[in-house]
Amino acid sequence: MNPLLNTDTLPAFRQIKAENIEPAIDQVLSENKKHLEELLKQDSINWENLVTPLQKMDSRLSRVWSPVRHMNSVMNNESWRKQHDKCLSKLSSYQTELSQNEDLYKAFKSLRDSVAYESYSNAQKQIIKHALRDFELGGVALEKDKKHRFKEIKDLLSQLSNTFSQNVLDATNTWKKHVSDKKELKGLPDYALDMLAQNAASQNKAKYKKGYLIGLDFPSFNAVMTYAKNRKLRKEVYLGYVTRASELKDKNAENKKFDNTEVIKDILEGRLVIAELLGYKNYAEVSIAKKMANSTDEVLKFLNDLNEKSHDKAVEEFEQLEAFAIETDGIGKLEAWDTAYYAEKLKNKLYEFSQQELKPYFPADKVITGLFEIVKRLYGITISENKETETWHDDVLFYDIIDENNESRGQFYLDLYARENKQGGAWMDECVSRMKTDEGVQTPVAYLVCNLTPPVGDKPALFDHNEVTTLFHEFGHGLHHMLTKVDEYDVSGINGVEWDAVELPSQFMENWCWEKESLKLISGHYQTGDEIPEDLFNKMLSAKNYRAASMMIRQLEFALFDFELYKNYATPGYEGVQQTLDDVRSRVSVQKAVEENRFQNSFSHIFGGGYAAGYYSYKWAEVLSADAFSKFEETGIFDKTTGREFLNNILEKGGSEPAAELFKKFRGRDPDSTALLRHSGLM
Ligand code: ZN
Repeated sequence: MNPLLNTDTLPAFRQIKAENIEPAIDQVLSENKKHLEELLKQDSINWENLVTPLQKMDSRLSRVWSPVRHMNSVMNNESWRKQHDKCLSKLSSYQTELSQNEDLYKAFKSLRDSVAYESYSNAQKQIIKHALRDFELGGVALEKDKKHRFKEIKDLLSQLSNTFSQNVLDATNTWKKHVSDKKELKGLPDYALDMLAQNAASQNKAKYKKGYLIGLDFPSFNAVMTYAKNRKLRKEVYLGYVTRASELKDKNAENKKFDNTEVIKDILEGRLVIAELLGYKNYAEVSIAKKMANSTDEVLKFLNDLNEKSHDKAVEEFEQLEAFAIETDGIGKLEAWDTAYYAEKLKNKLYEFSQQELKPYFPADKVITGLFEIVKRLYGITISENKETETWHDDVLFYDIIDENNESRGQFYLDLYARENKQGGAWMDECVSRMKTDEGVQTPVAYLVCNLTPPVGDKPALFDHNEVTTLFHEFGHGLHHMLTKVDEYDVSGINGVEWDAVELPSQFMENWCWEKESLKLISGHYQTGDEIPEDLFNKMLSAKNYRAASMMIRQLEFALFDFELYKNYATPGYEGVQQTLDDVRSRVSVQKAVEENRFQNSFSHIFGGGYAAGYYSYKWAEVLSADAFSKFEETGIFDKTTGREFLNNILEKGGSEPAAELFKKFRGRDPDSTALLRHSGLM
């Protein structure tokens, strides 16, 4: 039998072969399609004969696909990737077909209009609401000619987004600065010099091969901005970076053909048409239809309010930095290409400490047992290793979660270390989602994946503080997925949670990496067992908020530009993209942008990716998590009652109720930005 199709047990990772993938996906997709047709033929529709079987189909498809997607990320190889990519496009057309199925839309509508609707649970009502909303946002409810136009524009928009990203990529790649004399690169640390030398060596053109090659990829750009003593060089690289994909010619005239200026206009126009076809005033309204925020005004008020509260501090930070730069090198004025350089120097002067110093205090075992102890105190759960379960690699561990009533709540795989053929970054992904059926409860299983520093020699793995924080972050997502008590697949765990609220449990967990009391549980010198010295701990805390206001207003500038642009585009008073950005900058920035700055032309989040009128979500989720944590600051960071309240109102509820209501149940009021500002030292 095809091992992928056995969904009664956990995936048999070591048995699955690349050639199993396509037949398994083909089979499940064709079964699902046939089944859906039969379901829609029924004379009368109700929850049990429509939504329950639909959720079972979704769950089965997810259980077959999840090990494929997962292995593609953690054990990548050529033949697997080929099969994966092939099936990915089959899955995406299946999803599109489903989302455009008018009969299915009508079936959900009839459920909403049925007498039984009032007797449905919150979770069931939420599923129906989500389904109808998504069908409608996908244009299913439109009349025939409008529907045709909708599809046309959608296709065009997806091409435009692709062109936008491609232009950014090409503009980034074609700009190159070759440096033969190492003296020009004074200040750059060895790792950066090695990187630039390697960039040069990998070039085909002989004239580049020797010496150092600076590109506009982020690692190179960032290294030059942060460390290069040569001010002229910083300026040149900076201007190259901020004019990418714009109409401005820089030294490489070829760049001009990658100009995104018109692409941006077309994207804005297309999204406005989409909004109007769907009956909204602007695209910002479309964006928040699926989010926790209730109105476009609420988002703007939220961002402007944060700006007001951080602005003075940001001015102070700027003045401090400029004074430092003038004093250090006698420059007349702090220019945009000086900021990162002097910020790094000032940081070193103020808080002489490096992440390296903390490493001996965070051996892997101590961090993990400490983390488990923390969640035991907060949520009453016990986590223990399960050595029986097969994993995909010998480094990977598997764990069971049991709650206070001895009930099994979930399981997870923990794949901690960086290795070859494993995708970078850290993430949580679902292996199995919770669902209750006639056969019983299907308990959730998560993949927790990081790329932490592996053990070297006979020393245990030692983490720096950023790595510890990353682990806590992903663990927070994992708890949201695993501790859910919702029985309906579509809104259990993180399923169905609004996008701007999904980072709440993850960023929330990070707080336990910064408190003395919890650090005692997760740290101890790997040789002596000593606690982190007081002095080092204090430096770590003060460095945390270094230039916090400047970073805050930078994010606010991006978020306000994004949101105002999509909200105001083509309204009376709208004066264009550049004008909108200039206007936001005049209210938010403390350092005047250089005239050549065309940041918008490479703002891929909102023109190439999925963040259009949604960039604010980053800050929104930070406010939620800081505010949720502040309740623990009031009652004690290990307070059992508060822990259980967070468990019952947030973690267990998943997407079964609107995030705003769940938050209010936990906190007793609406979210407030005070805690975030206080945590960032801005009060
Ligand atoms: Zn996250």
